[in-house]
Amino acid sequence: MYGQIRIEHNLSCKAKPRFEEDLGFGRHFTDHMFMMDFEEGKGWHDPRIIPYGPISHDPSAMVFHYGQAVFEGLKAFRTEKDEIVLFRPDQNAQRLNRSSDRLQMPQMDENFVVGAIQTLVRVDAEWVPRKKGSSLYIRPFVIATEAGLGVRASSRYSFVIIMSPVGSYYEEGLQPINILVESHYARAVQGGTGSAKTAGNYAATLKAQALAKEHNCAQVLWLDAIEKTYIEEAGSMNVFFKINGEVVTPNLSGSILDGITRKSIIHLLKEWGIPVTERKISIDDIVLAYENGTLEEAFGTGTAAVVSPIGSLLWNGTPMVINQGNIGDLVRRLYDTITGIQYGRIEDSYGWTISC
Ligand SMILES: *Cc1c(COP(=O)(O)O)cnc(C)c1O
Repeated sequence: MYGQIRIEHNLSCKAKPRFEEDLGFGRHFTDHMFMMDFEEGKGWHDPRIIPYGPISHDPSAMVFHYGQAVFEGLKAFRTEKDEIVLFRPDQNAQRLNRSSDRLQMPQMDENFVVGAIQTLVRVDAEWVPRKKGSSLYIRPFVIATEAGLGVRASSRYSFVIIMSPVGSYYEEGLQPINILVESHYARAVQGGTGSAKTAGNYAATLKAQALAKEHNCAQVLWLDAIEKTYIEEAGSMNVFFKINGEVVTPNLSGSILDGITRKSIIHLLKEWGIPVTERKISIDDIVLAYENGTLEEAFGTGTAAVVSPIGSLLWNGTPMVINQGNIGDLVRRLYDTITGIQYGRIEDSYGWTISC
């Protein structure tokens, strides 16, 4: 498929960051990257692993003007047995194709994508940190590279994979975050690109995100764009609420991202016999549950943090403090289970981890 991956080793490898110190997120990059090109009529070709470095494109390359850019995010973990595993990479490959389809970009063989990630991780295996809670973040992305200013789908693309060793999201253990419920700006609308992992969705959120920071909130909770009533998702996380023993999360309406962490959590909850429902949830449902004392827990989910307990929701200028700002039992159990599977502390009976 697409030819053998050619490997050009980096002969001047960088000094690795001190893995025992705080690596932060996306600040250091490994020695190599994967690249492959697409051209209409020729398809995907020339898969290669080359030294990490700048990529150069014509200033009229379509991605700079019309935003055909999709991406993924997943992690490689070093287990306690010193094996390196990926968490559900097949799901990332599938979603990359769904995002590409929405942006009129070409499809890729999903097994090939997973294989390319595995090969790149093996080449830079020494970059998978050993410190507890750390991992290697993997960022595959596709961009439109055809030169020209006509508005249409590009006839040329590059698929690139870069990797960054990252520290634990929670150096000091799980930390509840404050979230601002956004009532003015919107992130996405049904029929739009909200369910695609595309760069433009993020550009649309940055202004609201900056305003949330001014209110001491780490993220924005988006409401639906039309009625400004139904909860969508938060920043780069899907959201869950535990109300009177039942866990609820917004259904995949077409304007929110189909998160792999979300999917994994729903699977675990069902297996544990905890009622979980995917449905429309209005902000009024949440306010009501808060007022009558049945809002037990709230949390966000995503690859970067796995789960983020929500300590308070700022709505119409008033904070709703959830579970007295403490970390709930359910959020902790989910965090321990998923990270346990990722680091090999808990047996993976789901087939979610794949070795490199
Ligand atoms: C990536 C992303 C998520 C989380 O998805 P995971 O697959 O769980 O990492 C949620 N919302 C948005 C907008 C995202 O881009």
